[in-house]
Amino acid sequence: MTTTHQEHPKLDDPSTEHPAPSAPPARLLGRIDSNNPGPTLVVLAAVHGNERAGIHAAQRILRTLDPEHMQGSFVALLGNIAALTHPDPETRFIDHDLNRLCTHERFSEPPSSSVEHAQMFELFDHLAREHQRDPDMVVLDLHTTSAPSTPIVAFEDALPTRELALALPLPRYLGLEEELQGLVFDAATRRLGVRSLLIEAGQHQDPESINIHEASIWTLLDTLGIAHPSDHKLTDPRETLRRAAHHNERACYDLRHREPITAPDFAMEHGVTSGTRVSAGRSVIAHQNTQPCIAAVSGIVFLPNMQRHKRPGDDAFFIVRKVSHAWFDLSARLRTQPWVHTLIRNLPGVHPTHDHELLVRADLAAVLKRQLFHLFGYRLVRHDGRTPAVGFARITQGIRAFTRALFDRAAHPPRRDDPEYWIVRRRRLDVELDPTHDDI
Ligand SMILES: [Zn+2]
Repeated sequence: MTTTHQEHPKLDDPSTEHPAPSAPPARLLGRIDSNNPGPTLVVLAAVHGNERAGIHAAQRILRTLDPEHMQGSFVALLGNIAALTHPDPETRFIDHDLNRLCTHERFSEPPSSSVEHAQMFELFDHLAREHQRDPDMVVLDLHTTSAPSTPIVAFEDALPTRELALALPLPRYLGLEEELQGLVFDAATRRLGVRSLLIEAGQHQDPESINIHEASIWTLLDTLGIAHPSDHKLTDPRETLRRAAHHNERACYDLRHREPITAPDFAMEHGVTSGTRVSAGRSVIAHQNTQPCIAAVSGIVFLPNMQRHKRPGDDAFFIVRKVSHAWFDLSARLRTQPWVHTLIRNLPGVHPTHDHELLVRADLAAVLKRQLFHLFGYRLVRHDGRTPAVGFARITQGIRAFTRALFDRAAHPPRRDDPEYWIVRRRRLDVELDPTHDDI
């Protein structure tokens, strides 16, 4: 058994207001390997330089976990070390947000392209090495928010990941990876094929955020069979999560809208915060460019940007909608049926390309709406965010789109870069579960 633990008193002390270490810490915060074979949990802390709660939580686990009473490995890695060690403790990133950088295109650029390119390559080298040791490893990315908020777990809605996420008694958020490109946790799944979750624990400086991260890590260690809290004289960490979730832990939300910051005068509307209900076309959510920012869709405000440093292109806020349990369960059953995917591939206006990917006419896709693709286990890889008309106008719009799609069948297959088509794809981890997946 081996134990490596990077002692970093300045990072380690939550009571220190803004601890900036004097020498850059190593990316490996610590690891504990048991002599007994078993799964690996890798936690990522400080992917945003100003979010330190995950570091404190990981260090608590490294101090508590007894290698004699575990199997497998626990590994804690630092995310954006350059931002974490910047003299200004509120630095989220230097050149690029690391949690928006990890796209396929950016990985084809050299590490010298920016500070965060170098961080990204180094982080993913570490992840790739862990993946070689344990192809079934799980990644948990630990974040906190600028505004006070209830803790949540976010994940890509593939069935193997869903099963793991349900072990955490926290509200569940789907669809982050469709509105935000280049998320670290998403890249871990895309590049390595591993299950990956993200926790938003609460506000940056709130000590309770550390407790939430710690309880989340323990719950996963327990669920994966790596270590059990009772063997470490600890009570059930799920209780901490349930309490923090205000017993709303079974609720599930789908991310429906992202508003970007476009002007330096951006400010949230007074009284609007995480959880505020808003109506499309009516509710004022924020102000920027001296104009009010009106809700584009109805729903609930999520992750309003209260950071001190805001830059154009950053997330201003999101709008989410609740998903019913019936929909959630039906979607698990439907997506495992081969006939469902055969049917979808043969719909007018739908062109299968390769690798379980479909090009779908945008006008038809907008009427079918994203929920339908989500229901069948598809992910929107590229969409234009258009929303369908309502009422009778939507029926007419649907008939028109369907008729056009029928004639579309005779036409040449569209090019992948045609903006009149949405790209949707079955989720990688679902496809790997499907015994028939090689047939397509
Ligand atoms: Zn973050």
